[in-house]
Amino acid sequence: MTRRRWIAENWDESTATLAGAQAEHMIRVLRAQLGEEADVVAGGKVFHSVVASMTDGGQGGTSEVRFNLIAEVESEPGMPVTLVMSIFKFDHMEWAIEKATELGVASIAPVIARRTEKHLAQAAMKRSERWRRIAHEAAQQSRRSDVPVIHVPVKLSDRVKAASTSKRFVLAEQERSATLRGALVEAIAPAEAEMPALEIAIGPEGGWAPDEEALFDTSGWQAVSLGPRILRAETAAIAALAVVASMLE
Ligand code: SAH
Repeated sequence: MTRRRWIAENWDESTATLAGAQAEHMIRVLRAQLGEEADVVAGGKVFHSVVASMTDGGQGGTSEVRFNLIAEVESEPGMPVTLVMSIFKFDHMEWAIEKATELGVASIAPVIARRTEKHLAQAAMKRSERWRRIAHEAAQQSRRSDVPVIHVPVKLSDRVKAASTSKRFVLAEQERSATLRGALVEAIAPAEAEMPALEIAIGPEGGWAPDEEALFDTSGWQAVSLGPRILRAETAAIAALAVVASMLE
């Protein structure tokens, strides 16, 4: 049986701990036993581990599960991609964050685009914690050895203009000639199969405003297409990651 995987909050060279809701879930729902084996992610590495102690804090107390780390196990490399995701309807966005995490995204940068709905833009700051929790759970579930970073939401223009060493692409349904796949093939060719770090921007439900398209262009982002059909923003996010994933094999 594959061992359950946990991502620890705190660790040192030989132990790691889970606290709060994760610890309570492990103790009360999964009825973990002392000596039980698990894979524990600590500091981006995965360790074959055993449960060494458990404290159920009860109502209002602090619960904790402590593991002894036995040996490092090999982990899958992540995908060097940051999704610059215009904030769109929260339920769709949460779905996109969960699925992007499963596919191996390194980080997600939520941005407020011109056509992001006002009330969503206002509520976005308070959502970051929830997005981080979704990413954490999806990372555990998909047996990742790290949790994608969810950045604090910023205005699109701040992100687009910020300096970056990544190769930067903007998904644009109006683009007719360049495809994401074709652009990646070109990007990889000179580096001899080494995938560079990528940033991929996705527009909101209403698409990019003309001044945003111009800003991407003057800031060195390449417009690319995912094909002739118009995809919903969350579909575009997943399709783009699948294209990158297919090239990492
Ligand atoms: N402007 C469109 C909808 C935008 S779809 C309209 O209302 O008619 C939301 C985002 O998904 C777009 O801004 C773009 O980033 C991405 N997207 C959707 N379909 C795409 C495609 N075929 N190729 C590239 N990006 C696409």
